[in-house]
Amino acid sequence: MLKIPAQGLSRDEVFARMETYTEGDLRWKGGKAFSYVYDAGEEIEAVSNEAMVRFAGTNLLYPNAFGSLLRFENELVSMMASHLRGPETAVGTFTSGGTESNTLAIKTARYRFRERNPNAGVPEIIMPITVHASVQKAAHLMGMKSVVVPIDPKTYKADVSLIQAAINSNTCMIVASAPQYAHGVIDPIVDLGQLALQHDIWLHVDSCIGGFLLPYFRRLGANVPDFDLSVPGVHSISVDLHKYGYTAKGASVVIYRDKELRQHQFYACANWARYTLINNTLQSTKSGCPLAAAWAVLNHIGDAGYLELARTMLQGTQQLREGLDALDDIYIMGDPQMNLIPIASDTIDIFELIDEMNSRGWTVQTQLGFQQGKENMHLAVGPKVVPHIPALLRDLQACIAIAKEKGPNPMLAGLRDMLSTLNPDDFTPDMLGQMLGMAGLQGVELPKRMATINNLLNLLPTTMREKLLLAFANELYAL
Ligand SMILES: *Cc1c(COP(=O)(O)O)cnc(C)c1O
Repeated sequence: MLKIPAQGLSRDEVFARMETYTEGDLRWKGGKAFSYVYDAGEEIEAVSNEAMVRFAGTNLLYPNAFGSLLRFENELVSMMASHLRGPETAVGTFTSGGTESNTLAIKTARYRFRERNPNAGVPEIIMPITVHASVQKAAHLMGMKSVVVPIDPKTYKADVSLIQAAINSNTCMIVASAPQYAHGVIDPIVDLGQLALQHDIWLHVDSCIGGFLLPYFRRLGANVPDFDLSVPGVHSISVDLHKYGYTAKGASVVIYRDKELRQHQFYACANWARYTLINNTLQSTKSGCPLAAAWAVLNHIGDAGYLELARTMLQGTQQLREGLDALDDIYIMGDPQMNLIPIASDTIDIFELIDEMNSRGWTVQTQLGFQQGKENMHLAVGPKVVPHIPALLRDLQACIAIAKEKGPNPMLAGLRDMLSTLNPDDFTPDMLGQMLGMAGLQGVELPKRMATINNLLNLLPTTMREKLLLAFANELYAL
């Protein structure tokens, strides 16, 4: 077991050592990362970093002691409320990310539902299968039931009639996305708002990925349907700043139509030996850094600056889509409404294609298949990747040819046979180890080529995928 070093290292030595740890890290600068990163350039990064250094000693638990932070928070929430066309009464909270924004909205809806329906059973959340997993995680944490319904298989959007059919007396809320990340499409929020009003149910819109960017796309002439607080029936909406607001990680906002709706979000406890604890978020002691950085970046880029970034992204997305349409053997799934493009194939192993692209220095994302959607390669068009789109398309064409030449994965048939004999319920850790070995995974070092592992995961039922990856994570977090 590791011990705290007996003698401290010099400052230089500390940083030199840390640098050596970064060798295998993602090289996210330079415009070849079509995934994982939100990069608007070094000038903006510098502003963000300086704000974090200046406010490094602050604690957002104490708005009474740090009036600056309280002002930053109220101003950011207000800017987002107007960006998302909220009424004058709108209020909100700055949170650590999309997961926390969604979790808080769900907590608030849950306790309000409990108060209004004291005799109801376990509160239920209805959502299309494309809603971000953080919503099911929140339900899991709070003892709620996730009712996950299929989507429209052609458009990948929520199917309003299936959501309507799932409503019962325990339905606490509906959650939908604007857009959902996987296919980049916006759920029919206006129709869902009507449904929510008819049945007096809370509607939360997860706009973590889109809430910041979509209003700019609309101003630039893109066809963006109404999805925000201007839609009757929308009770709350979440929007991440640390995605297309380009602020430092740990920055998101959740907004409610009015204070009455937000009431149950806050938590107070006086029944203990110290001060009365009041928390507006899940964290108690929390760094003021992401908040200060977010305030600095929003005020530095400004509306005109964001509009220009959005223009670059919109044009880049168009250019990428045209280039993709011209390539054989792959196609864009559905009709993405933002800058998130899922690419599938009926003729080549998409996981091979992803490996080939990543081996050429690109960073593209893998999305596994689910009942209604094929496995795919996901690309996100940020402002810094746009100049590299022609090179990406050239490499894609070359890599498609290589994947086609290779043909289907030779392990696939064996894996399929093995899986057909398995019952997910009597899946043992031993079998997991065996499978991982078969797919080329030894220890916790991920192989350079992931196609076989991805093919395996893709074949597994979702409960087995979860078990397998949980076992892997359990190994990962141990020295
Ligand atoms: C990123 C994202 C989230 C989760 O946000 P985190 O900041 O990763 O916690 C939730 N919903 C959508 C649609 C997202 O894209």
